[in-house]
Amino acid sequence: MTRRKLIAGNWKMNGHLDHLRELDEIANAAEAHPDVDVAICPPATLIAPAVQRVPGLTIGAQDCHAEDRGAHTGCLAAPMLAEAGAKCTIVGHSERRADQGETDADVRGKAEAAHRHALTAIICVGETEEQRDAGEAESVVTGQVEGSLPPDATAANTVIAYEPVWAIGTGRIPTMDDVAAMHAAIRAKLSELVAGEADGIRILYGGSMNGDNAGELLAVDHVDGGLVGGASLSADKFVPIIEAAGFLYGRR
Ligand code: PEP
Repeated sequence: MTRRKLIAGNWKMNGHLDHLRELDEIANAAEAHPDVDVAICPPATLIAPAVQRVPGLTIGAQDCHAEDRGAHTGCLAAPMLAEAGAKCTIVGHSERRADQGETDADVRGKAEAAHRHALTAIICVGETEEQRDAGEAESVVTGQVEGSLPPDATAANTVIAYEPVWAIGTGRIPTMDDVAAMHAAIRAKLSELVAGEADGIRILYGGSMNGDNAGELLAVDHVDGGLVGGASLSADKFVPIIEAAGFLYGRR
C-alpha cells in the first residue's frame, strides 16, 4: 500500500503574527510538491490568520479538549479550532503528557473530539530514555497506541506520530534499525486494533528531524512522514524536509 508522505510542523509556543511570513515559502514548497502533504500547527492564536494568509496550506492545532463546550477555562474545543480553519490537531504530544499529566484515555477522548469535528487527529506516542534503556520502548509505545487510539480511527481521520521523548529537541535520533522496528511494531498493533484501516494510517517519525537526516528517516519502511518541531519554525529549515519527501516520491 502506498501512503502519501505527510510533513507536519509543530510550532509549539512560538511565533507571533510577524512569524507567519515563514508560511509563504512553505506554502510555495507544498505547492511545488503536490505528492507530499504538508501541514503547520502554529499556536492557536495564529490559526485563523495563517489560514487567511496561505489558504492553500493545511493549518492545524496542537491540542483540543475532549468536550465540545463547557466550564474548562483556558481550553479550546475541537469545533472552535475547526471554525478557526484548522484541518487537523496534534493530541497527546509528550510535552502535554508530561506537563499536563495527560493519560492515554485523555488522549483518546481528545482524538474522538477531533473526529467529531472533521479534524484529523495526529496522535503522539513515544518512550522516555529510561524506558528505552530498560528495554521497554516497544511495549510502552504499543501500549500508548492501544490506549490512545479511538475505535473509529481510519486512514483519513488518524495519523500516529512516533516521537521518542529523548530525541525531541536534542539533536539525537534513534538508529534507522530502531526506527524501522518501532514503526513495524506500531503497524502490527494497528492491525490488531483497526484491521481494515491499519495499512492506510500514516505513522510519522518525530524527534530532531531536519534537512540532513530527513531523507534517510523518510526512506525507512513504515515511516510515512515527519512531525517536526524546531526545524518547522523557519522555511529555510522546513522546506528541505518537504523536498526530501518529494524526492522519495520521485524515486518510487
Ligand atoms: C516535536 O516536539 O514534536 C518535535 C519533533 O520536536 P523537534 O523536531 O524539535 O525534535
